[in-house]
Amino acid sequence: MNKNKNIKNGKGHMDPPKPKAGHVAPPQPKLEADPNPGSRVNKMIAVVSGKGGVGKSSVTALSALWARRQGYTVGILDADITGPSIPRMFGLHPWDLSARDNTLYPATSVTGIHAMSMNLLMENEEQPVIWRSPVITGALTQFWTDVAWGDIDYMFVDMPPGTGDVPLTVFQALPVDGILIVTTPQDLVSMIVGKAVAMAKMMNVPILGIVENMSYVKCPHCGEEIRLFGEGHVEETAAAEEIPVVARLPIDPMLAASCDAGKIEYYDGDYMSGLADVLPKVELKVQE
Ligand code: ADP
Repeated sequence: MNKNKNIKNGKGHMDPPKPKAGHVAPPQPKLEADPNPGSRVNKMIAVVSGKGGVGKSSVTALSALWARRQGYTVGILDADITGPSIPRMFGLHPWDLSARDNTLYPATSVTGIHAMSMNLLMENEEQPVIWRSPVITGALTQFWTDVAWGDIDYMFVDMPPGTGDVPLTVFQALPVDGILIVTTPQDLVSMIVGKAVAMAKMMNVPILGIVENMSYVKCPHCGEEIRLFGEGHVEETAAAEEIPVVARLPIDPMLAASCDAGKIEYYDGDYMSGLADVLPKVELKVQE
């Protein structure tokens, strides 16, 4: 009997050893794709949530706006193919993209935020994307390899909701420097944060903080903060996981209206200033 029959698999490769009982999976290798030669992205921040509809895209957009208002150059890589949120919030359309010699250039908003989204590539912007996950992740990876982003201080990635196959593959393809988690008071906060922490550990990326969206409503008459959904569990979960709470956003009809009108850049709510303490630092270039 050939004692070595389990060592080589016939293609000259070693078979991976079988995991032992109780074995803990090692950290996932990064399968990062090389960026386009026309991109110099300093820090990449992924914005994640447990499910759709909690305001992940709004928080991504507001984070980008905050960074832009500080004078940074900012990009948004929209990896959430479940809806046209990012282009809609910034009033961007397919004709805002341009292409030259196999290179794609992102759309640029009125305040100079650069953005790329699957919905900017669809003929009909309302059409849902019904591709299978390998096709989706392949296309999203091209946002990194085939798009010339230019000089970007902070790139915010609007991740697909959840911690499934698509977000995991997107994480593996992109050089993410930090993660922001968006939750709402109705969420199963500890479970969502726990899953995000496990994913972050696997990818060896730090969690920068938690944003609680739809945290309260402000009375327009007396300014009292009314917690419609009761006390959330963000503070205790954040403390248990030693993650800072970066921001708490109210339910604000003005925010929803600005998003719907494609005018989020005119929204003056300044809720994301806590980012100043948690974002990995980049040097602010003096713009001439
Ligand atoms: P997600 O990316 O998690 O699916 P979105 O950011 O697209 O969620 O938000 C879903 C809807 O809720 C949008 O219509 C958005 O305008 C609205 N929304 C999100 N956060 C708020 C908020 N704090 N106040 C009012 N409306 C909000």
